[in-house]
Amino acid sequence: MTFGDLELVTLLDGFFRLDGGAMFGVVPKPLWERRAAPDGKNRIRLGLRPLLVRGAKKTMIIDAGIGDKMDAKSGEIYGLDRAEELDASMAAAGLTAADIEIVLASHLHFDHAGGFTARDSAGAVRPRFPNARYIARTAEWEDATHPHERNRASYLPENFVPLMEAGVLDLVAADAAIMPGVRVVRTGGHTMHHQIVFIESGGRTAVFAADLMPTAAHVSEPWIMAYDLYPMDTLAFKRAFAKEAVEREYLLFFEHDPSMAAGYLREKDGKRFVERVI
Ligand SMILES: [Zn+2]
Repeated sequence: MTFGDLELVTLLDGFFRLDGGAMFGVVPKPLWERRAAPDGKNRIRLGLRPLLVRGAKKTMIIDAGIGDKMDAKSGEIYGLDRAEELDASMAAAGLTAADIEIVLASHLHFDHAGGFTARDSAGAVRPRFPNARYIARTAEWEDATHPHERNRASYLPENFVPLMEAGVLDLVAADAAIMPGVRVVRTGGHTMHHQIVFIESGGRTAVFAADLMPTAAHVSEPWIMAYDLYPMDTLAFKRAFAKEAVEREYLLFFEHDPSMAAGYLREKDGKRFVERVI
């Protein structure tokens, strides 16, 4: 999709499954199961959709899916299905991993940063994009490298420590421009330093919503994941952001939606819904 001076391509690193109850927090199952049908283990299907941003000078990818390092047992638990995966998805856009110059992290959970690294033929874990600088938020890096019992299962060191060791990781302390037309904004909520990405070009704004609104079903204010460490912060940010998104017609990219990659948030008669674009 052409977006002002930029080109946006929604990519796919396959699908995985998480507990439906955990995905919708306090929302009762009779409500969420109409939007996302659970399997026999109460899990719902989720997409892994990194976003490619191609500018005049730089080619960037935002998040990189789960990647191919997950062991069989975890793959089973998470119902991992990478029949369609990121390399093929990039190839369809005429790119290889070597073409990516910037890899931007919304945060460092495994379903966003898993694809940042890969095992080489000798079994060593290395940066997966050989010519890229990787960008993460300083305080998110601190949290990821000092996990506690509540977030340890989400922060797998093999996804980000090798980046630091290889000297390809740049830490950004605050909201900042990453390349022309692209800036990050901290939301907090999901993790204390979770960030979303604003893409502005030709008078239009697109937003990679990451885990603030992981699927189109999460645009309603109380539909907040039980995974969020600070759900009231998610609520406050989402309330202000959703109003802005409706008024200014932001094109929202949903990283984990199983079927809708992007759409516009609309409000009619006090009801919020998403008008699909991709
Ligand atoms: Zn996350």
